[in-house]
Parts: sequence; C-alpha cells; structure tokens
Amino acid sequence: MPLLYWFFLRGCLFLLLCCSISATAHVSDDVPALDNYFKETLNTRDGLPHNTINTIAQTADGYLWFGTWEGVARYNGREFRIFDRNPETGLPDVGVRTFFVDQHNALWIGGSRGGIVKVHNGQWQAYPPLGVLINRLLLDKQDRLWIATEGQGLFMQNAAGERFQYLRQDGLPSEQIHTLLEDPAGRIWVGTADGLVYIDAQLHIQPVAADYYNGVPVFALALNHKSELLVGTERGLFLSGLDNTTPQILLDNVPVSALLFENEHILWIGTIDRGLLRQHAGVIEELDIRQGLPNNRILALLFDKEKNLWVGTNGGVFRLRDAPFSTFTTVQGLAGNYVRSVLSHSDGCMYIGTSRGLSRYCAGKIDNIDLSAVSIGQSVLSLAEGPNQSLWVGTYADGVIELNAGRISRHFHTDNGLPANEVRAVLPLADGTIWIGTALGASRINGEDIRNFGREDGLPSPFIMALYQSSNGKLFIGSGAGVVIFQEDKLTTLSLTPFDGADYAFGFTEDRDAGLLWMATDRGIIAYELNTGKMHLIGREQGIPFDKLFQVVLDKHGYFWISSNRGVLRLSRAQALEVVSGQRNNVDVELFGESDGMASAQANGGSAKAATLHHDGSVWIATSIGVSRVQPERLQYFATMLPPVVIEQFLVDENEISFTESQVLPAGTNRIEIHYAGLGYIMSQRIQYRTWLEGFDQNWVSRDSYISAEYTNLPPGKYRFKVSAAYPNGEWGQNEAELTFEILPYLWQEIWFQVFILFAFSLLAVLAIRWRLASLKRNELRLLKLVSEQTTELQLLARQDALTGLANRRAFDEALQHEYQRAQRSASTLCLALIDIDHFKQVNDQLSHAVGDEVLKRVAAVLKQQSRTVDMLARWGGEEFVILLPDTSLEDAAEVCERLRQKIEKLDLHTLSAHLKLTISIGLTTNHKLALPQLLISADKALYQAKRLGRNRLVIADSNQY
Ligand code: GH3
Ligand code: MG
Ligand code: MG
Repeated sequence: MPLLYWFFLRGCLFLLLCCSISATAHVSDDVPALDNYFKETLNTRDGLPHNTINTIAQTADGYLWFGTWEGVARYNGREFRIFDRNPETGLPDVGVRTFFVDQHNALWIGGSRGGIVKVHNGQWQAYPPLGVLINRLLLDKQDRLWIATEGQGLFMQNAAGERFQYLRQDGLPSEQIHTLLEDPAGRIWVGTADGLVYIDAQLHIQPVAADYYNGVPVFALALNHKSELLVGTERGLFLSGLDNTTPQILLDNVPVSALLFENEHILWIGTIDRGLLRQHAGVIEELDIRQGLPNNRILALLFDKEKNLWVGTNGGVFRLRDAPFSTFTTVQGLAGNYVRSVLSHSDGCMYIGTSRGLSRYCAGKIDNIDLSAVSIGQSVLSLAEGPNQSLWVGTYADGVIELNAGRISRHFHTDNGLPANEVRAVLPLADGTIWIGTALGASRINGEDIRNFGREDGLPSPFIMALYQSSNGKLFIGSGAGVVIFQEDKLTTLSLTPFDGADYAFGFTEDRDAGLLWMATDRGIIAYELNTGKMHLIGREQGIPFDKLFQVVLDKHGYFWISSNRGVLRLSRAQALEVVSGQRNNVDVELFGESDGMASAQANGGSAKAATLHHDGSVWIATSIGVSRVQPERLQYFATMLPPVVIEQFLVDENEISFTESQVLPAGTNRIEIHYAGLGYIMSQRIQYRTWLEGFDQNWVSRDSYISAEYTNLPPGKYRFKVSAAYPNGEWGQNEAELTFEILPYLWQEIWFQVFILFAFSLLAVLAIRWRLASLKRNELRLLKLVSEQTTELQLLARQDALTGLANRRAFDEALQHEYQRAQRSASTLCLALIDIDHFKQVNDQLSHAVGDEVLKRVAAVLKQQSRTVDMLARWGGEEFVILLPDTSLEDAAEVCERLRQKIEKLDLHTLSAHLKLTISIGLTTNHKLALPQLLISADKALYQAKRLGRNRLVIADSNQY
C-alpha cells in the first residue's frame, strides 16, 4: 500500500532528475567546476589502517579523524597516527563506525561491539560497551547521548550515565537505526531501516507524515538553511518540512547515504552506488570513479575548516580541494594534453596550442578551432596576435597560418619561402612585418617578400625559440646559442656563456618600469638592461633551484611566475631587482607543482609563448598534461588562512615524554627534541613554522617548513617553547602551541653554589690583599697594578672554560654569530664541527672523575695544538667540543677534523692509566643553505650519526636533509 502511494505522489511533485554534466564545464568564480578541484585519494598506502572510511570528523584543535574497521586514524596533513584497541583508548574493538563532535568539542566514537569512547583534551574515556554495533552517536543540546544500534533499537544515555532503550514496542518501526539528527526544536529524528520517526520533548516516539517513509530505509538526514529536513533514503532524496507535510522528491531512485551542505546553495550528496553528487542552482553534477573517485560507495562527508571536502568511501578517503592552480585537459575539452603555447588575445580569450590542435578558452568555455584543412596533424607550436587582431598559429609540420575571424587568410611554409615548416615563434609587428622563428632560421615577411636569416647572416644557432620586440624598438631573437639583436638591418650576438655557461634563450618578458628585459635561459633568468645592454644572472647561486627556465610572467601583484621542467617558480620582482642592483645576493623562491593543482609539474618550453598573463590577472602555463592556470589573488586567499599548530612529541634524550604539564628534567639533560605540526590541509607541506625557546632564544627563529626543533646542551633553567605556523606569505597564526620545562642544575651549576665559591674566593682575595697590604704597605703603586691585572684575568675567565682553558660556550656563541654573518655577507664557506669524546662516562666510572678531568685537559690541548690559528675551538659543554672553521671549504674542514680524530686516537695516556685509549666522534657541517640555528642542528645530527655508525669517525652532514 505505501508503495502505491509512493508512485502516485511521484507524478505530481517537483522533480529534479539526476543529470550528468558534460565535459564542457562552466567555470564560475564562486563555485568551481568539479573538474577544477584538486583531487586526491589517501588509502592504506598512505598510512590509513583500512580503506573503508566509515566516518570523518575534525576536532577544534584542527586534527582530522577517520574511523575505519581497523581503528581510528588521526591526520595532521602529513601522516596518520593510528589508535586501536588498547588500554589507552578503551575501545572494545578496533571497528569504528561513527564519530560525533559535541558542543563541548569532545569527539565521541562508536563502533563494533558497542564501544563508546569520548576523547576530550587528549584524554580517552570509555563507556560501558553495548555489545551491538553502534551506527550513530549524537549528543543533544541537553547533553543526552543518543545511541543508534544495528539491531537493538535506540538508546538514550542521560548526563548521569543512566541508559534507556527504545524498541519496536515503544514505536520504533525497526530496531536497526541508521541515522540521527537533532532539529532546532530539540526533536531527535531517527532514520531506521523501515522509515523515519522522531522523538518529541516528552521523549515519545512520533511517526512522520502519514507513514510516508514506511518500508523505506533512511540513511541520511540534514537540515537546510530554512530548517527544512532533507531525508536521504534508499529510494532517493526528499525534502520533508518539519511541519510534517508530505515530502517533495528532490532526487528519485538514487540511494542516498550521506548529505552535507557546503553553504545555503550547495548540497553534496553521497550515494550508495553512484558516487558523489553536487546540487547547485538546480543542477546536479556527478563525480564518480570515472573522475577519480576511488569507489562509488560514499560513507561519510566532511568539510574541514579550510573548506576541503573529505569523502569517506570503500576505497579510501577522497579529498576535493580548492587549489591555487587549476588545470584544463582533454577532460575539459582541450584538443590535446601536450600543450606547447598559450596566447592571451585581445578578444578576451585564451588560445591554447597543443600537439593535437588549437583550443580556445572564452568565458569559462573551451572549444576547438579546426586547422585540418592546412595541417593534418594540427600540432601547434607557437601562437601570436597580429595588429589587426588576427591569430598567427605556428605549427610543427605545416608552417605558419594566419586566421582572421576564424578563416585562414595567409599560410607560409617551405613551398613559398620559409626555411622550415617547424615554426617555434611568430612576431607580427605593428608595421605589418612578420618575423618567424623556425627550427632552421628566422624569416622576415614583408607582404609577399620573405627574407631568411641563417648562420651565414650571423645567427649563432638557427634553432629559434622566441622573438620579441622591445619598447625601444630592438628585436630580440632567442636561439639555441644565445640571443641575437636585430637593429637597423644588422644582427648582433649577445653571448650568454659568461653567465654560468648559459646557451638557450627560451623566452622574453619586458619589465618596462625597470627598463629590463627578462630572459629565461638554461641557466636561470638574465636581466638585460635595455639602455646599457648590461646583463645580470639570477641563477642557482642566487637561489633558483634548477637550471632550465622557460618563460617569465610578471603578475599584477609584483611576482614573477617562471615555468620550468620541474614546476612553476614564484619569486618577488622586488627581490629580483635588488639582486640586479647588487643590494642582495639571493631571492626567495616558492615552487608549485602537482600538489598545488597542476596535473603535471613539467611545463613545456622551446616555443612561444610557454606561459602568459591573461587579462583577468591569471597566469597560464603550457604543460605536458594540459594548460595550468593560477590566479595569484586566490593564492593570497590561501595565505590568509591560519593553520592551527599543535605539539605532537616531546623527546628528552631520545625518550618520549608527556608535555601536557610542565616537566622537570634531570640535571645533565642533553638533547631536547620537539615535534610539531600545522594542522592545515591545503598546502600541508608548505606550511612555515617559527619557534621561540624562551630562556634560550632572544626572538622567533624561522624554521621554514621543518617540523621539529632540537636543542642540545641547554644550560639548566626554566624554558618555554612556542611554535606558530603560517602558509607561505601569510600571517603568523595567533594560536601558538607551547610547552614548558625546566632543566635542573648539577650542584656546581647551582647559583648558590657558585655564589658560595665566588664568596670564598673573594674572602681569600681580601685576605691576600690584606696580607699584601701589610707586607707591601709602601708599595701602593705595585699593588694597584696587581689588582688591575687580576681584574682583566677575571674578565678573561668569564669567557674561558676553567678546566681546559679553551673558549667557553658563551665566547663561542658570540664568535659564531659574528662569523656566520660575515660568511653570509661575503658568501664564503664556513664549517662547524661538533666533537664528542666516545664512551667518556667509562673513563669517569672506571678511573675517577679526577682522571676524567685530566683527560679532558689533554684532549683539549691536543685539539688546540692541532687546530689552525684561524679556527675557533671551544668547550661546548661536558666532554663535547666545537670548532668553527671560517673561510674553509668542506673538504678542507674534513681534513682538519680527520687529523684531529687521528691525533686523539694516537694520544698516549698511559701515564694516567696503563691501557687508557680514547677516541672521538665528529659531526661536521657547513653554512651552505643553512640558517644559523640549523647549522648547529645539522652538526649535531651528523655527530649523532657518527655515534650510531660506531663512533671514532667523522660524519659530514647531509646537505639535502634541510
Ligand atoms: P658517547 O660515546 O655516546 O658520547 O658516550 P659518553 O659516555 O661519552 O657520553 P655520555 O653523554 O653518556 O657521558 C658523558 C659523560 O661526561 C657524563 C659526565 O659525567 C661526563 N662529564 C661531563 N662533564 C665532565 C667534566 O667536566 N669532568 C668530568 N670528569 N666528566 C665530565
Ligand atoms: Mg656527550
Ligand atoms: Mg661522549
């Protein structure tokens, strides 16, 4: 009977049939087309414990949580931490079916064997399990916990922990409950395997709208902005006013498993067998395995705070992310995926040359221009716009074509005078002259007259890749062997070889305000001063990470975007100009690639133009998989987001310890390591950090994207560690994570002890002076001299290690600061080595502390004697020494260190103890690419490595580690 009713109603209701949107998606600014999202799947290969993602949640601290049949996985944007059945979690079974984040920011977990666990502020609290699978949990506004089970009806647990059970006899249509929802009036809606009911304020079960959903499994419930109820069932999606009127069918015959409103207008619908649907402005778009969804069965949906959509499926978690880059490929209708050139035309469209034809992107739509009449393969190499808005298309095998309003008006090829049909660059000039760059020379076309230029005319290489006319009328030809300038009928070669051996000039961009022409070459970018002809290289030495750059694009925000084989670089024009004028040595570079929305980081170069600025401010890049577009102002939007930051691990001398409360660490604590993470999911790898160890650092220390901080040999005292995070170029987050700890002093490090010693010394000094006064009464002058001598000696002592006579840590820190800055300024190499005596404790233990002291003195003496006068040797603390080698290459430094190591190995100590032998381990590093704090960390790491490899050796820090 209900079924008949069903079919009857269906006819007279407003229907929205599920229609798949075709490939030519419309790109509107506020609602990105599904195709333009950055899509990514995480599964067991990435560290998830199971590929069925039953439920997803985000807690207030920023962590994402995934519930699977093999436990809970907590995600920080880089890695998963798994929580399973153990005494800490209290889970009776690893199977997790549902999460609920309540109004107190606690995470509730429900799952197999009726496990119910609450996680709040890092504490796990288990409730007595129910013994039946829990499908859903909900803590209502009155703090009553509602528990939907797989076959034992519905439970309500009040704040006192008492439980009440609802069964069929209480009015439940089925004891298998799929879903729960609390409406603004406080009613609890209950979706069962056999229809929908709700629980009223008196806690009674009430039926819904004349048993409309009788016999229909209800899987998902959601409220829209008008507080109307959406009901996702096995038979479709319904809009069911809370006033109990007859529902409307929104989606017919689609089994709906999950519902999520992105905002008032956009609804995401998870289905049981058709993937994900998005409903917006009356249109439904489908996203299923054909577009990369790992599985068509959707189990959970979540928007995180940064508006990433997380989709739980049977095949892992799928993430849709609004990325800075979007990429158009054949899926969006591009003629081919191998894109070689782009042209922003004055008609407002972007023209895209691919190896399989010419495409055009106008107002969000892509269509293709048929060139088959003149080019069978339609392989397009280069594009340019003529003075009369005509479109010039250089092809791979068919010469160059001029299109006027879509019609072919001219066609030049080898048969009518071009040196080659492979046209890599076209430059139509205002006076009607057209320059053509081919693989076998350049041509100038004047009406019907073609003049060719080759090697014999002074071209250093006939392989032409770029043509440009500067604002002062010079014609620049980019070739496979430098740049050629054509002026007043003369060719002048501009050799690039003085610049790190540059050869190829791939593209030109004029920077009128600066009077510069930027040339992208195979050794970086070269700034050419248009007035003087002077050139300046910004290459590897100046911070560009690799050699070959294809095209420089200057955006409207003062940034260069540079395409390359290994991604797109962004750098500030202001910094580049400062390098040109000699005010700075290097530029900061950001690299964008596949994780930023490019389908392939490999851009194409060698034909013009490989990248360009569009009228709307976007930058387009020809790549080996489609054309990628970045909207720089959207990057700003990403930068304004503040990732929250958390401390994840606190390691003291390699042991993990709790950091929820302040820790008191024993005297002699040597190595502190703190791991932290910015919980941002848009560009997790790009998040920048800064830390401040109060009590040690004077200010924030930049950590780039390094996610741990290490400190060794901290003096005793109280410390507070703070860390904050930001996206590149974004603001630093206000929400800092912090932890505090105290390192206890040894007796001799205690201030009272030192005061006592000082006092004793002073007393002695006073006595001595008295004695001297008495005996040398008449020689005041001499006495004064003596006092002054002692004062300088005391000052000296403050910078000297008492035992060994070497410089102490304080003196060394100052020297290091000074030398490091000097090295940075003069771009010279500086090396630093940490030296640690192997198994020194045994010396103390077996031979006494006094012998230990003597050994330290002797080792210090040998080190001092063996190091060069320019080197700064200091006692770093305990049995560790440090040596700073200014103006020294890594090889030379390694030699010095190796010599030290050998001398200590051979050191004869038999006068102290018959068989005493000693070795040292050394960690060596250099300032190349390292900030000051990292220099020490890197040396310490190397030292640690030397210890691990068996001691008595030198290990040079791996520069790639940073
Ligand atoms: P490893 O090879 O791993 O470096 O082993 P180790 O025994 O040298 O290292 P560990 O850090 O465990 O021990 C260092 C010892 O050095 C512990 C401490 O008692 C001793 N020490 C530190 N400062 C002094 C000092 O001024 N005089 C003496 N005699 N011993 C010291
Ligand atoms: Mg040590
Ligand atoms: Mg040691």
